[in-house]
Amino acid sequence: MRVSKQYIETIIDSIDEPIVCLDQELTLFFINNEALSILNLRREDAVGKSAQEIAMRNDLLRRLLVGMDGSKAQESEDKKAEPLKIYADNKESYFQVKYLPVRMTASDGSIRESGTVIMLKNITEFHKLDVAKTTFISTISHELKTPISAILMSQQLLADNRVGGLNPEQKELSDSIRENGERLLSITGELLNMTQVESGVLQLKPHITKPIELIDYAIKANQVQADKFHINVEVDYPKEKISKLYVDSEKIAWVLTNLLSNAIRYSSENDRVIIGALQQDEHHIILYVQDFGRGIDPRYHESIFERYFRVPGTKIQGSGLGLSISRDFVEAHNGTLTVESELGKGSKFIVSLPV
Ligand code: ADP
Repeated sequence: MRVSKQYIETIIDSIDEPIVCLDQELTLFFINNEALSILNLRREDAVGKSAQEIAMRNDLLRRLLVGMDGSKAQESEDKKAEPLKIYADNKESYFQVKYLPVRMTASDGSIRESGTVIMLKNITEFHKLDVAKTTFISTISHELKTPISAILMSQQLLADNRVGGLNPEQKELSDSIRENGERLLSITGELLNMTQVESGVLQLKPHITKPIELIDYAIKANQVQADKFHINVEVDYPKEKISKLYVDSEKIAWVLTNLLSNAIRYSSENDRVIIGALQQDEHHIILYVQDFGRGIDPRYHESIFERYFRVPGTKIQGSGLGLSISRDFVEAHNGTLTVESELGKGSKFIVSLPV
């Protein structure tokens, strides 16, 4: 038993990632060299001592113990924990923390928890790459906006009869320049929004807003597309009084515009689409967009809110970003964005916002 313990300790000590083992009473009974180094502890001051006592003088260990309680509470929720940020030697490092419960089988066959292994994975390099990616996307999208706007401006002049008439073929080409230019502009807008969320600079400028104003904005922004596909956009708005919202109207109007654009794009010609609002309860308003199009397989109901995810087989062009940014925008307002959808019957995207 002793020998096998030594073997295991030698292996764990040789691992480059920090590992800390605690028993049920939170006594630190094993810690590898890497963990000693980032916790700034000496082996003789740590092994066999109470982790809670050491944590009183050691901020990082304290954060790990707090995270351990949190991880137990979250165990059933399957949420990804935020990386742990550590300042040491004048630089920032990022670690992903895993808490592994150690379970033992007693002689009567019952299973009991006998401790916890805390494993840290250094993800600083990935974090740096992620930040570089976000900055790169942000710069590129920003730089692209000006030339695309200039192309659209020239197209507008070209299409204006005062400059000279276009024959039908030229008009078709000019319309195609406009459509594709607008698409490019909307993609760069989506990318910029995404980088705002990812770099944590998303700033909300809330105003008191009537829900109908947001709905009207989304309809206007999608009118051309709706006409093109002969989609009838119906408004479902309560006759009785409805609470006003205190939201960043630009952001929530963007969400509704995006949901309505999806509803139109993923419907068949001549279908109808409903956009509406209702008082959910005293403290919440629901804004929703419902279509009667292709619907979404239940197994994708969560993945569609992930970055770049598109339901396999989706032929209509898109970036897979709209819904993930929409959810971020709504959650930044302490709201929720959910979907109810059945294949072949259509989809309903529901935004619930506190008033
Ligand atoms: P995009 O539409 O640009 O691909 P989104 O994030 O808005 O990106 O949507 C992600 C995916 O979810 C889409 O690619 C599509 O497969 C699916 N989806 C979104 N809205 C609808 C809808 N109203 N009906 C059917 N499928 C939809």
